[in-house]
Amino acid sequence: MRLAQLAKDERRPRDFDPREYISTWTEKDLLHGHIVDAWVIIFRTRGCYWARASGCSMCGYVNDVAQEVAPADILHQVDTVLRKHESQPLVKVYTSGNFFDDHEVSPEVRERILHELGDRCDKVIVETLSHLLRKEQVEAAMNHVRELEIALGLESTNDRVLRQSVNKVWGLKEHAHATDLAHAAGATVKTYLLVKPPFLTEREAIEDAVRSGHEADPHSDTISFNPVNVQSRTIVDRLFRRGEYRPPWLWSVVEVLERTRDVKAHVKSHPTAGGMVRGAHNCGSCDRRVVNAIEEFSLGLRRDFDDLSCECKDVWRAYSEMQEFMLTPADPLAVLET
Ligand code: SF4
Ligand SMILES: [Zn+2]
Repeated sequence: MRLAQLAKDERRPRDFDPREYISTWTEKDLLHGHIVDAWVIIFRTRGCYWARASGCSMCGYVNDVAQEVAPADILHQVDTVLRKHESQPLVKVYTSGNFFDDHEVSPEVRERILHELGDRCDKVIVETLSHLLRKEQVEAAMNHVRELEIALGLESTNDRVLRQSVNKVWGLKEHAHATDLAHAAGATVKTYLLVKPPFLTEREAIEDAVRSGHEADPHSDTISFNPVNVQSRTIVDRLFRRGEYRPPWLWSVVEVLERTRDVKAHVKSHPTAGGMVRGAHNCGSCDRRVVNAIEEFSLGLRRDFDDLSCECKDVWRAYSEMQEFMLTPADPLAVLET
């Protein structure tokens, strides 16, 4: 497929030291209904195998797969980062890929990470592609941790969106199977869904996210809506540079959250680069208020967005209608201004 090749052509390999983890920080999150400090660790690995083969249209990790990272290198990263633990009860572990891919994180390294973090934290969250998950892996993981949440990047439940927009070839079927495996072993599942992958109009993107939220609900304990942000050297970046992609409006994210309030899973969203030109944004003057409201909603601190308003809400509505009228997913404001 042409999209698969384009995703590969766009990338620019980044240089890195395999013995250094990518990043760590602390943020707020919910644990058993209480707001707690959550420790985030991003380990450097050889990266996502799908990013090597082709890669998703919005994923900046595709630039991180040029070098190998040996198990000993990852263990060195573990030793270094463990010194930074400050009694956070929740830890989120990311690699630039898949925690349950044995080629990326060997079973021994995985065991060490889970053992060390399970000793220190009440709950561990890891991320992987659904079709890579195996029963034995989850069962082995549960030996080391009190609570395990497995985050799965489903992105959309629409196969056409997955293939022709996201450039992913696994969908709800694989996701549901992985969820069954996780639940049978006693783990929970967080489902990531995208808001506005490329080539969708603003309205199509909202409808896709709302429908995906409802369809993924029976196979999720938490649903996290990820508004697409423009990461360098990706298909999305290529379209953005040509004025053919605008990240979602924050009003679109608000609409998605309001229309999925009826699902049984906990619904949340943390807009990366929210309020910035490469992240979900509105007009500039209301962005901070709306991003804060979305964060509060995600932490269970508010139930609706009724108190929010701004003149740009009318621009957002006109924008969505104009795309339909112009028969294009391109940014109508950029088109008219250039
Ligand atoms: S989004 Fe996930 S599956 Fe897709 S290339 Fe990036 S790391 Fe791999
Ligand atoms: Zn505004």
